[in-house]
Amino acid sequence: MADELPVEVRDVDMAFRTGAVTQQVLHKVSFTIRPGETLGLVGESGSGKSTMGRILVGLYVPTGGSVRLFGRPITGAERRGNLAAVRSRLQFVFQDPHSALNPRMRIGDSVGEPIDIAGGHSRRDRNGRVRELLEMVGLPRDSAERFPHEFSGGQRQRIVIARALALQPSFIVCDEPVSALDVSMQAQIVNLLMDLQEKLGLSYLFIAHDLAVVRAIAHRVAVLYAGSIVEVAPKADLYRAPQHPYTRALLDAVPRPDPFRKRGPVIGGEVPSLLSPPSGCRFHTRCPNVMPRCSVDVPHLLETGPMRQASCHLYDPEPLCNVE
Ligand code: SF4
Repeated sequence: MADELPVEVRDVDMAFRTGAVTQQVLHKVSFTIRPGETLGLVGESGSGKSTMGRILVGLYVPTGGSVRLFGRPITGAERRGNLAAVRSRLQFVFQDPHSALNPRMRIGDSVGEPIDIAGGHSRRDRNGRVRELLEMVGLPRDSAERFPHEFSGGQRQRIVIARALALQPSFIVCDEPVSALDVSMQAQIVNLLMDLQEKLGLSYLFIAHDLAVVRAIAHRVAVLYAGSIVEVAPKADLYRAPQHPYTRALLDAVPRPDPFRKRGPVIGGEVPSLLSPPSGCRFHTRCPNVMPRCSVDVPHLLETGPMRQASCHLYDPEPLCNVE
């Protein structure tokens, strides 16, 4: 069905166990992505955002909660069959195009490999499709005969995107796809992804470590802190009036050209260890608005406006007995 939700994530937990040690990387994460929508998933290094991306393309099995892709559960007993059924509709674009491309393979073979694996195409059709894909991402058709080292970092990311499009996916996880590029190249790749979305009706989960990068591309933004979503909002609302203290701190860290702009308090400290996360609100060790109950009561993601949610006791005036 054209209007089925590409992604529905409900209360997802992900814990990694090494011997007796457990690292709770994701905690009760929920979100949806609609057809043709880009959800920006933003958080510092170690917040769990790449783990979430890998769950969505079937690389990790969550330890709790449920994930549905195109209406099919990929958690539970039906996982294997449902993942196989939706596999061609999902793709992943990694941060580092160097490691995503085999240096000894010609570009045409790298881009055409998913078509070869899927089978059912003549050599002529496959080569025609490769040329079409290279053109779609703004590379000359003769790129097919060349090797990865002959291209710049931005061009290599275009090649990776062409390969991701080979099987005509509907949903792509873009995991920091521009963070290894310089600023002008970042803008070109973001514009390319937006053009492709408009032409092909793609949905994206766009993962980034700062709010500046997702500003151009995201329709909505989810902010992840120490494995939990602390705020979700339409892009315009989030940038105009951030609600969670952590979102405000991330926005204050974004460089802006106005020399007279008054900066808020800059966030201090490190993301807490997920081996022993802080009690109560996980952000309380760094929060400029911390209150006595914050180290005891766990805040929950609550409706704070149209299509807006935040998990912070500033929006939850009733004391709760929800100590975890
Ligand atoms: Fe800060 Fe308390 Fe809100 Fe957590 S719950 S973000 S510590 S004010």
